Amino acid sequence: MFTDWFEVNDPRFESLILPNVHVDTLYSGGRWLEGPVYLPAVRQLLFSDIPNNRVLRYDEINDVVAPFLQPSQFANGHTLDRSGRVIACEHFTRRVTRTEHDGGITVIASHFEGKRLNSPNDVVEARDGSIWFTDPTYGISTEYEGARIESEIGSRNVYRVAPSGEIAAVLTDFVQPNGLAFSLDESVLYVVDSGSKPGRIVAFDVVDGRLLSNPRLIAECPKGIYDGIRLDRHGHIWAGAGDGVHCIASDGTLLGKIRLPEAAANICFGGPARNRLYICATRTLYAVYLNTTQAV
Ligand code: MG
Repeated sequence: MFTDWFEVNDPRFESLILPNVHVDTLYSGGRWLEGPVYLPAVRQLLFSDIPNNRVLRYDEINDVVAPFLQPSQFANGHTLDRSGRVIACEHFTRRVTRTEHDGGITVIASHFEGKRLNSPNDVVEARDGSIWFTDPTYGISTEYEGARIESEIGSRNVYRVAPSGEIAAVLTDFVQPNGLAFSLDESVLYVVDSGSKPGRIVAFDVVDGRLLSNPRLIAECPKGIYDGIRLDRHGHIWAGAGDGVHCIASDGTLLGKIRLPEAAANICFGGPARNRLYICATRTLYAVYLNTTQAV
């Protein structure tokens, strides 16, 4: 035990954390928080409060949280593209969108083979500009996080949208594909299945920048489910789980945990040095400084 906040399972974890920090509680008024994305230019964090159908904004300078977008179409995961534009996964409208610099909304994906998507959950951009996202059914299985309706597609896939706009299903056999993240050199894509029992993280080789092959089980979640994942500069996987955030080496070794009193869903690095981990955990937005930074 390193401190009450940290659980060290492998000596390597001690070099990733700081001995004198606390986990800050920044906000506790959410219903189910997810989808944090850090906007470096304005030092703000956007994050989703899905059942309340809103996106909130944490202002790092003034240390305040305020509504940013409501209704948010029950938005879930977000990412920032290479041009600094926010990409959002919308449960209610069942699409992935990009907010342009002038405020306009561009639809990146809404259909596959003529059928509506289920409810896009999480999204990343590759260096070639392609957009990769997961499409489980959490946003269409209840009214709580979207709208209840039958899946048109009938499966829960991972998709790649090429810069041309062409959409392809790259993974079709997960129960509920959820968080996803590329390795530092983008030769590997990690994908969470939060519907398998237990939940798991699987690594795939990325072939020609557009296909997945050679699946390898990286980790099974010992408590709750894995949801969102992010990589740090060393290639370690940080994953939201039932008892906090788990730090996992690329070979699957559990290095340690940030222990939280609520289940953690999604995380992202922020702060000017990208060494502050923001954690959306059930009703609460937490943050903790680490001795590592976001992968670049
Ligand atoms: Mg998710």
